[in-house]
Amino acid sequence: MYLLRCLVVSLGVFFLLYAAFSGLLAVCWRFIKKPANATVLFALRVLPMFAAGAVVLLFTMPSFLYLEPHAVEEEFGVSGLAMALCGAGIIVVGVVSMLVAWLRASRFVAACTANSRPLNTDVGVPAFEMSCAAPALLVSGVCRPRLLVSGQAAELLNSSEMEVAIQHEMAHVRRRDNLKKMVLRFCRFPFLSGLEREWLTAAEMAADDAAVTDERTALDLASALIKIARASGGMVAPELAMSLVPEKGACLSARIQRLLAWQRPVSARSPYLRKMAALAGLVAVAVVVNYSWVLGQMHEFTELLVR
Ligand SMILES: [Zn+2]
Repeated sequence: MYLLRCLVVSLGVFFLLYAAFSGLLAVCWRFIKKPANATVLFALRVLPMFAAGAVVLLFTMPSFLYLEPHAVEEEFGVSGLAMALCGAGIIVVGVVSMLVAWLRASRFVAACTANSRPLNTDVGVPAFEMSCAAPALLVSGVCRPRLLVSGQAAELLNSSEMEVAIQHEMAHVRRRDNLKKMVLRFCRFPFLSGLEREWLTAAEMAADDAAVTDERTALDLASALIKIARASGGMVAPELAMSLVPEKGACLSARIQRLLAWQRPVSARSPYLRKMAALAGLVAVAVVVNYSWVLGQMHEFTELLVR
């Protein structure tokens, strides 16, 4: 019963914090200057879920275990129970949503590779030529990604365009973009789809940047994007896949313009990352110094919550 009470309190606090952090992010996102860095955008998007989880693990559970007497049998209020149910619901829906996306991607890869021939490439992941009618080039799979190239795409692109297009896909593999998409499935929240779209655009541009080494490869990649986009249609990729030209390709013209105006990138760290790291460091130091006081405050808060 004691541990069940601990679980109810933890889930209730998790729900409150997750909803508050996500709501705050949704409001702030409308007003802040949009960062263009894919890593920063992804960190911002998953921050509410991980911050709420961290607070529960580091403060709510320890405060209950250290400060709540075993002998006391308090009754939970309706609101406390409702919040705990909502917290459990968020976790269950997130896990089911991740599993469904993963299963769809696995079935898609299994169906594609069953009717395709292996390609002899040294890109580091198994590669297959699919026999589908649409020109497509994508990586799918989270744990064991597969590079899938349709016969149409192989006919459409010349060798240098194909090489840089494959490098673009391999950048998605190195950056674990399909895993990130799966984490986003877990953290679903209304009003944050704009931030997710922004991350997806930034992830495509980051993969373009990783694939391109000079003006010639930039032009080859721009040409590959145009050829595939013009001839595309027919194949629907699963959610946990990164295509060369995503179906919802709103960023396509921006990507092509960037490639046509390609300039050697100057390596500069995002000021957002430095600011976020500095803020996290300050908060961590303040919390460590005042840990027992924070536990006491958290315990008082949870007492109010469950009544
Ligand atoms: Zn891509």
